[in-house]
Amino acid sequence: MAHNSTVKIMLLDDEPFMLRLLGRQLENLGFATLFPHVSGAAALDAIAGPGGAPDLILLDLNMPGMDGIEFVRHLVELRYTGSLVLISGEDERMLAAASKLVQAHSIDVLGYLHKPVPPDALARLLEGWTPPRRGEGRVRRDAYGVETLRAAIANGELVNFYQPKVNVGDGRVVGVETLVRWRHPKDGMVYPDQFIGIAEAGGLIDDLTRAVLREALAQARRWRDTGLSLKVAINVSMDNLRSLSFADFVSCEAASAGVSPADIVLEVTESRLMADLRVPLEILTRLRLKRFRLSIDDFGTGHSSLVQLRDIPFDELKIDRSFVHRAYADPTLRAIFEANLTLARQLGIDVVAEGVEDSADWNFLVSTGCDMTQGYFVARPMPAADLAGWIETWGARLRQQPAALTVGAIAP
Ligand code: C2E
Ligand code: CA
Ligand code: CA
Repeated sequence: MAHNSTVKIMLLDDEPFMLRLLGRQLENLGFATLFPHVSGAAALDAIAGPGGAPDLILLDLNMPGMDGIEFVRHLVELRYTGSLVLISGEDERMLAAASKLVQAHSIDVLGYLHKPVPPDALARLLEGWTPPRRGEGRVRRDAYGVETLRAAIANGELVNFYQPKVNVGDGRVVGVETLVRWRHPKDGMVYPDQFIGIAEAGGLIDDLTRAVLREALAQARRWRDTGLSLKVAINVSMDNLRSLSFADFVSCEAASAGVSPADIVLEVTESRLMADLRVPLEILTRLRLKRFRLSIDDFGTGHSSLVQLRDIPFDELKIDRSFVHRAYADPTLRAIFEANLTLARQLGIDVVAEGVEDSADWNFLVSTGCDMTQGYFVARPMPAADLAGWIETWGARLRQQPAALTVGAIAP
């Protein structure tokens, strides 16, 4: 709990009664520096004024005049870098949609609350929240330059991490997904969402994928030589599929590493719209003919579409984690998850559920009969050297309490 009386919290609601109620709840949680406002305009004036922006805003969505969504747009213009909690009497789907919308503006949404706000719900939301220390953090790093990234690739600063994929039925480890990280000499570990887009836009994605693939193949070979039979997946960008030489490159590298194409999974997601799918289609079909396994990634997000599924002979479909985590508790997510599962079954392709984060997610997957899964509940992505040790621990988890994975008796 953030017992920090210096943390600045702004409350915005057109009902003074609500402001008093929320204020009292926050005071009971140890927050004392509160700024209540009944209108968006007054709140924006305060933020732009000498007092500056708060660390957290509790925002009512339904207000006469400027509503909550419009208020957020002004926050974006003011480059607000604090956190936000949305409050409304609207139903769950409406609140979820509004919170997605705000997140799309890169504002940190701690969550949403239904009116009337139960005190324990507010407490739970704030429990995991660390108020920013003034003047540091929270500010997004400047984007890396193309030349910096080019040098990083050349200097071998990119490293592969591997996240296990396991069978839902018996817990057996079937493979790993390769996830690249950048060990930045000054900034520490940099995650792919901060540099894949730059690599794609800057014409470096072929170099990046080649580096990742080479290392993953060498690693696949080492695992096999120690008796570990694992399918190794790597992420392929649509921008890798512009040049016909890509299929030959992949297949030559696999041959020289001594790894069978059937043990390599290529995960493809359409990160942006492609006008002409003929070349990607040709490359993927050729790779499939050479027996590489093809996986459609982030399925259901709009990037990976039914059109791709129709046109490309995929072996595997990965249901995006936004439809997996908490699907047991949300009828909309559950319906989407089950529709995707049925679709894959009818097409005769394997299903991997991404983002199983806790035992409740796991139990849900067991109940649906989904084939495979990966997620923090099973394991976080790890360096290659940690995998053998993790497999032992996982085996012990399965052996010691065989029922553990279906009753959720083990914490992740
Ligand atoms: P992805 O392919 O969908 O990979 C799964 C991402 O979800 C990974 O993030 C992984 O760490 C994260 N994840 C795994 N389990 C859980 C979970 O239970 N909960 C949550 N919340 N997250 C989980 P990461 O490593 O940051 O990678 C992000 C994305 O960057 C990847 O999404 C992939 O699209 C891209 N990427 C990663 N490596 C490469 C690469 O070598 N080449 C290309 N082109 N893209 C890559
Ligand atoms: Ca992937
Ligand atoms: Ca994915």
